Amino acid sequence: MRDLPSIRDLDVKGKRVLCRFDFNVPLKQGFIEDDRRLKESLPTIRYLKREGAKIIMMSHLGRPGGTKVRELSLAPVAKRLSELLDSEVKFVGEIVGDEIQKISEELKEGELLLLENTRFHPGEKGNDIGFSENLAKLGSIYVNDAFATAHRKHASTYGVATLIKEKAAGFLMLKEIENLSKLLKGPPPPFSIVLGGAKMKTKIPVIKNLAPLMDNLLIGGAMTYNFLNKKGIDVGDSLLEESLLPEIEEVFPILRDNNVNLYLPMDLVITDRIEERAKWKVIPVGDIPCGWKGVDIGPKTIQKFREIILESKTIFWNGPMGVFEISPFDKGTLEIATAMGEATKEGALTLVGGGDTDKVFTGSDIELSHLSTGGGAALLFLSGEELPAISILKEEVR
Ligand code: AMP
Repeated sequence: MRDLPSIRDLDVKGKRVLCRFDFNVPLKQGFIEDDRRLKESLPTIRYLKREGAKIIMMSHLGRPGGTKVRELSLAPVAKRLSELLDSEVKFVGEIVGDEIQKISEELKEGELLLLENTRFHPGEKGNDIGFSENLAKLGSIYVNDAFATAHRKHASTYGVATLIKEKAAGFLMLKEIENLSKLLKGPPPPFSIVLGGAKMKTKIPVIKNLAPLMDNLLIGGAMTYNFLNKKGIDVGDSLLEESLLPEIEEVFPILRDNNVNLYLPMDLVITDRIEERAKWKVIPVGDIPCGWKGVDIGPKTIQKFREIILESKTIFWNGPMGVFEISPFDKGTLEIATAMGEATKEGALTLVGGGDTDKVFTGSDIELSHLSTGGGAALLFLSGEELPAISILKEEVR
């Protein structure tokens, strides 16, 4: 396998370049709520335009399930991209077929075409060879800039890359890999990892892989209750992932063997109903009454986590500290975000995984060393796994 080819090494002038981006933006009634993923894709698009490529862009949006869902059309993305680029983005609402083929062949240098949501086609998620072949006909060069989808072996991220000889990673893909790789290569100590959120399945492999490098592991969010449960502490009605409890058992000796300090919350915010204006109170860990559930870390825990973050030279954070969609259960998450910003100012290397956690930074002026566009992709990368959409770029087509 060769090294990951870069977009800079391609000669794209006058060629049709088929590009996979991650334009999976949050939409509300047809309006884009946050266009960060579009803005992060601009360096690659602008470069290809400047170099005289004929640019054919593709992406998925949401989970239409292999069929056309009007609300998940990429039409609003085409419109927003046109504004951001100050250039027309052609869009006809098709993914493959005669019309799209003709438009792609008639593109002039620097012109842009956006295909419809690739997940409208049942062949996308199934990595269908026929669908991949039809996509591959649209370009003579393939560029993948969709880091956030790089853990998916789909037709537009993988199948098509097995068919096109000339291919490379775009600038966002390269930036994500460069930044996240710093954590795998022994970053400046003390190295702290802050994990929260609800899904443990993708986070436990990160703990296992990075344990030899990390000094502190801080656990918040719903993950807390699984750890407390394993320590024999009553968690009331808090969220538990029963099926993964045995995996936590494996984590304790790994942390011990690698001298990792494990910090669990000392106090919690609890409620009897997860909804706006519900009753809530702060209690020490272990005092959750029956019928109540933990929904955020408490003030003492926030203070402790802040101290550790500010003493660290490298911090990686993924997963909210509580049910941050509902105020006031967002306090712990917002405070950790602020501490991350302060640590950045103090010169620490601060990285945050995407998915849910990046929403905390939307519209804020908190600075980080790197805010990843990838949630699942970033976690898999940090678990030490090869992401299929990246490894296929390194494989040569015979
Ligand atoms: P994840 O995708 O695994 O990072 O999980 C994010 C989700 O975890 C968010 O929707 C949060 O509302 C949820 N979450 C965080 N803490 C809790 C908690 N204590 N109880 C229930 N859900 C939580």
